[in-house]
Amino acid sequence: MEQRPVVQVEDVSFRYEKEDVLEHIDLSVQKGAFLGLVGPNGSGKSTLLKCVLGLLKPTSGRIFLFGEPVESFRAWQRIGFVSQKANSFNRGFPATVEEVVTSGLAAKRGLFRALRREDYRAAEAALAAVGLAGLAKRNIGELSGGQQQRVFIARALASEPELLILDEPTVGVDARHVQEFYELLGDLNRRGLTLILVTHDIGTITDRVTHIACLNKRLYFHGNTEEFAQLGDEAISRFYGHSLRVLCHGH
Ligand code: ADP
Repeated sequence: MEQRPVVQVEDVSFRYEKEDVLEHIDLSVQKGAFLGLVGPNGSGKSTLLKCVLGLLKPTSGRIFLFGEPVESFRAWQRIGFVSQKANSFNRGFPATVEEVVTSGLAAKRGLFRALRREDYRAAEAALAAVGLAGLAKRNIGELSGGQQQRVFIARALASEPELLILDEPTVGVDARHVQEFYELLGDLNRRGLTLILVTHDIGTITDRVTHIACLNKRLYFHGNTEEFAQLGDEAISRFYGHSLRVLCHGH
């Protein structure tokens, strides 16, 4: 039996007020894929994510998660989400790394219910998976932006999701750590996690992902990385209005 896609977007359009922000989007993400969803600022990436996460209702079209229509989907623990603002705690923020990582599980258990020993073990395993073993008792604010971002990945992983969605996760992370961060995502993908990474920066992800979708109100391209490589610079220039070389290297 053919496996149902983890995410299936069928002919989705979305309008906030007058202007269409998404037009006729068809997109599917298979189990085990690592999709880079790329597009310039304002191209509709966040809007599409919100539709996928059931936070916005498409003006038309349908969305399925693990084969289930998003309107009736309830198994949200199968999906982890890391937003772009996740790495900006001040030094004095009064929470330990462990508290942040277990906070997702606490929400699942219900307010004021005690965490179980297995929750702390899950947190420890998740911190180890993101290369932060041993930092559980540190204050989150003492960590670098890159480390804080890993803590939020660990928070999502502690619930053992099958799909992890990341919205511009490297905003505020210094360039040195961005590559390490993508390596981590590649590792998680090789261990079987399905990933969707949303970014405006096409240049940094092409070597990491298995599939790429280029969004700018419409979907200009959707395919695997080999198909993307055959597109050539000119097609990408038309999409972005810049040369890929400029996008990658800034000159
Ligand atoms: P991206 O994530 O690619 O930067 P967005 O999905 O945030 O793009 O935005 C797509 C377009 O929709 C932009 O033109 C933006 O100004 C507009 N937009 C986003 N949110 C709203 C909103 N709540 N109300 C009206 N317009 C919005």
